[in-house]
Amino acid sequence: MQATPDSAVPHAAENRVIEPLYAEILRRNQGEKEFHQAVREVLETLGPVLAQRPEFVDARIIERICEPERQLIFRVPWSDDSGDIHVNRGFRVEFSSSLGPYKGGLRFHPSVNLGIVKFLGFEQIFKNALTGMPIGGGKGGSDFDPKGRSDAEIMRFCQSFMTELHRHLGEYTDVPAGDIGVGGREIGYLFGQYKRITNRFESGVLTGKGLGWGGALVRTEATGYGCVMFTAEMLRSRGESLDGQRIAVSGSGNVAIYAIEKAQQLGATVVTCSDSDGYVVDEKGIDLALLKEIKEAGRGRVAEYAERRAEAVFVPGAGVWDVPCDVALPCATQNELHEADALTLVRNGVKAVAEGANMPTTPEAVRVFQEAGVAFAPGKAANAGGVATSALEMQQNASRDSWTFAHTEERLAEIMRHIHDSCYTTAERYGSPGNYVVGANIAGFELVADAMLAQGLI
Ligand code: GLU
Repeated sequence: MQATPDSAVPHAAENRVIEPLYAEILRRNQGEKEFHQAVREVLETLGPVLAQRPEFVDARIIERICEPERQLIFRVPWSDDSGDIHVNRGFRVEFSSSLGPYKGGLRFHPSVNLGIVKFLGFEQIFKNALTGMPIGGGKGGSDFDPKGRSDAEIMRFCQSFMTELHRHLGEYTDVPAGDIGVGGREIGYLFGQYKRITNRFESGVLTGKGLGWGGALVRTEATGYGCVMFTAEMLRSRGESLDGQRIAVSGSGNVAIYAIEKAQQLGATVVTCSDSDGYVVDEKGIDLALLKEIKEAGRGRVAEYAERRAEAVFVPGAGVWDVPCDVALPCATQNELHEADALTLVRNGVKAVAEGANMPTTPEAVRVFQEAGVAFAPGKAANAGGVATSALEMQQNASRDSWTFAHTEERLAEIMRHIHDSCYTTAERYGSPGNYVVGANIAGFELVADAMLAQGLI
């Protein structure tokens, strides 16, 4: 958003509206660099919609959408197995309830701070809107580090966290789920404590529940599956398919594992996965049964995968993006794919990149892909399958029903096609054909902004 003469910029007047707003957001949210990055990436693309819809400017929609409705920060004390006491910080940012109850995951990771939760919550507003489901945007978590902790320690932490958080939740108020460091085990402990405190079996208050007590089939697989379904749609719009493509995946958590599974089902060969220690390259294609055994059953590291499989090599202390591929799926965490990685991927002939994680690609790297004509899908579109299936879980809970795997997967596929098509046509309508960042931001923003106009100044 540098100053440029009006004649060179089609939406200079709108950019003049956006620049001081962004400066005020920087001033008011100091040090929250991931939040600044997420806001900037959205605001940069809104010029054309503000030009056509001046009522959004008059109603101060941008100022309002960038300020969370409510931000909670709380103490989480707990004791470890030796009786030593620890104090962590808990967060829940209830960002927007324009389209439905606040909805978004909880992240337990030592890097969590208010800026990270706000970036995730901000992204969630537009992601959730794009799904077409009635869900608002929120996010939460803690700087608690689950690595190396026993089940009993995880349980005590989750119980302490929920002892405070429960008063802010409800199936019509705020509905958390998982994210990094929060999976089925943690959701179980959180749900148990909510139920105990409130004396209510309120199924719809959390999603990602176990299948025997209100959980939905496909929720576990949904983020990774959805990301690959979105990639298949992008390739289809270019007359190609995933069959026979060589794919590099980063990460080895829930999103990565089920992205690998769906890619393999669609005939692609996935040659990499990674964790914070390094990456594995397996030219024969990742043996998913082995990876699941190590990561899901044993909570182990990817280095062990290479120890147990002759075809695989472990490369310590590096990322996967040097490995040549047709399609790249960053599924680890924010800002993991940098400009130099993007240049390498483009040099190696990458055709499509879809973000399974939230904001894994830096803005400079996104620009490299866009300038090279690579199909690039931002996380708020490509990884929306997870939260969309959470909304399907809420539907099943509300009707006390449970759907088959095949039916739920078909619903997910329909939703991903819908998101793809609305990003695609919105980008075209606003003069940036093929630009999924513009399409996702504007399509999500319009839905939320229209609801905010209708609901008055709140
Ligand atoms: N944490 C996931 C996301 O980033 C899922 C949230 C949910 O299911 O509520 O979208």
